[in-house]
Amino acid sequence: MKAKDIAQLLDEPACEHNKKAKSGCAKPKPGATAGGCSFDGAQIALLPIADVAHIVHGPIACAGSSWDNRGTRSSGPTLYRLGMTTDLTENDIIMGRGEKRLFHAIKQAVETYSPSAVFIYNTCVPALIGDDIESVCKAAEKRWEVPVIPVDSAGFYGTKNLGNRIAGEAMVKYVVGTREPDPLPEAAANAPFKIHDVNLVGEYNIAGEFWHVLPLLDKLGLRVLCTLSGDARFHEVQTMHRAEATMMVCSKAMLNVARKLQETFGTPWFEGSFYGISDTSQALRDFARVINDPDLTERTERLIESEETRIRAALEPWRERLKGKRVLLYTGGVKSWSVVSALQDLGMVVVATGTKKSTEEDKARIRELMGEDAKMIEDGNPRALLNTFREQRADILIAGGRNMYTALKAKIPFLDINQEREFGYEGYEGMLELVRQLALTIESPIWPAVRQPAPWKQVAATAETEAAVAVA
Ligand code: SF4
Repeated sequence: MKAKDIAQLLDEPACEHNKKAKSGCAKPKPGATAGGCSFDGAQIALLPIADVAHIVHGPIACAGSSWDNRGTRSSGPTLYRLGMTTDLTENDIIMGRGEKRLFHAIKQAVETYSPSAVFIYNTCVPALIGDDIESVCKAAEKRWEVPVIPVDSAGFYGTKNLGNRIAGEAMVKYVVGTREPDPLPEAAANAPFKIHDVNLVGEYNIAGEFWHVLPLLDKLGLRVLCTLSGDARFHEVQTMHRAEATMMVCSKAMLNVARKLQETFGTPWFEGSFYGISDTSQALRDFARVINDPDLTERTERLIESEETRIRAALEPWRERLKGKRVLLYTGGVKSWSVVSALQDLGMVVVATGTKKSTEEDKARIRELMGEDAKMIEDGNPRALLNTFREQRADILIAGGRNMYTALKAKIPFLDINQEREFGYEGYEGMLELVRQLALTIESPIWPAVRQPAPWKQVAATAETEAAVAVA
């Protein structure tokens, strides 16, 4: 990838960070962990496309760095869960066999698994030795008549966030617009209301959580052409240009896709979240607003009313158990406010929230939800988190998986909210799962048990007391 292409991707006019600097995202400070590389970001963004063979062109260690680290689910094919790599060695590099190995890897993937498409992820080593992956992809596509898409995402190009954008760019450049959507099934075509086609970008179907939301969209007559990329299929990505609206779900990572769909095909987009009752309702309303169909607006309001009534009744017994419990939330970006609103819906008190990766806009929303004095944690090192937990007398820490051992070693209740989690919290139904997990975690008998001194320490303490009494 040329330097000017990277600079263009970093300069994302639709991104809030651009107002401060054209950096795309905050640069890591010296001493801080840098997070994943561009390749990691690109593969994470596209791996959930389930019927595609994802081949990592590079040394085998790159493939290990990002494979399957999101608990994203597919309702059908499972090809995406198969790690594929060209496994470049020193000999291949010295003998200049990189492109040849790549061609053979594509052959093996196509002949063994008949994928709908093959994605080739470029990594540092082949980018440095100058492998022309675009030409190899073109030749392979011609030879096997299967789309072979280059994703030029060498790790040294930049951060994980840039990798997300590179992935989005590859989809817009090579895939979107190469196929028309299937005609509506007969039942849908004869429906008493108009069916609208929509996209979701940045929805990864973690732990299958999007399946809580999909039935609602079905009821409203919103046909999802593509969720980029949770539970997606290659042919769905090809049809994204025909959507009437795009929702950016809880993420700014692939903002360039939404912006380019708007610029090229006139598809309007909005940002939203499916975490919490109010945000789910708002997202449904926003679809109706952007599509601008009065009948859809009316049906959306009816659906929201009946769903909110149903879910609030189902949540009532849990609300009693969780009301007033104090939460320390440490997560990044959009989730720093979207989860706040979900917890407040349950009557819980959010004592502080992490804002390390949040934009100014995210912070403004936090202040709106938690008041002007909202405590925002910029520095999430373990000591600072635990100090805040104790100062604020919190009952539970909700954070990403990397903070799990900090919490467990400090013997405090912990709930995983990031991409590695095993339960889906989206939509109205997701709230039920969230309360269940919150109550189970906070009320678990393990906490009083582990906070007791060890039995042998108790025996020693008793013996010491008895000896002291005897001496006296
Ligand atoms: S930085 Fe380069 S070598 Fe390391 S994992 Fe990323 S692509 Fe591979």
